[in-house]
Amino acid sequence: MTENSNFGSSFIARASNREEEKQRQYGNKILQLVDFNQAFELVKSAVEDKFNMHRAGLSLVLQGLPTKLGAYHVLGSNLIIVNKRILGIIKTHKSVEEYNSYLFMVLTHEYLHSLGVIDEIQVRKMTYALLVSLVGEQHIATKMARHQPWDLFPELSLFNDNSFEQKFEIIKNFDRTTQSYIG
Ligand SMILES: [Zn+2]
Repeated sequence: MTENSNFGSSFIARASNREEEKQRQYGNKILQLVDFNQAFELVKSAVEDKFNMHRAGLSLVLQGLPTKLGAYHVLGSNLIIVNKRILGIIKTHKSVEEYNSYLFMVLTHEYLHSLGVIDEIQVRKMTYALLVSLVGEQHIATKMARHQPWDLFPELSLFNDNSFEQKFEIIKNFDRTTQSYIG
């Protein structure tokens, strides 16, 4: 082995350690999220950094939806509707890290739709690529972006429910930092 290749491989090792350290720190940020607003702020800054895309003035609505449906964005609207039923199931039966990871992943997905990425496959690819670079392939959020939550948590199917709840809840102050520019 020449000195050069020695230098080269230790340089690569240091670079990948730094990458891992960054991913670990980002994983901690996800772990420490305390509410929808914080989660959405983190989603917005990550999407801005990775794809250089942003928009303002979104509202988050929580509604009980059929358990096969995680969330949706009404095209052309400023609404992201997240399935309160799935959030409730994950919150009750899974860890904080799994709950926060799911929330982060699902908000990223719908935020990308709201930015005009209509194609479902494209949104899934972008969400996955974003999470791989933020937290690495092995993180639970990345796995959730690759699969459906019920593939990772087969027990979710025990809570199968196809109904739509009539009542819904609007999250106050959601996206408030960008709304202040308009209001
Ligand atoms: Zn979608």
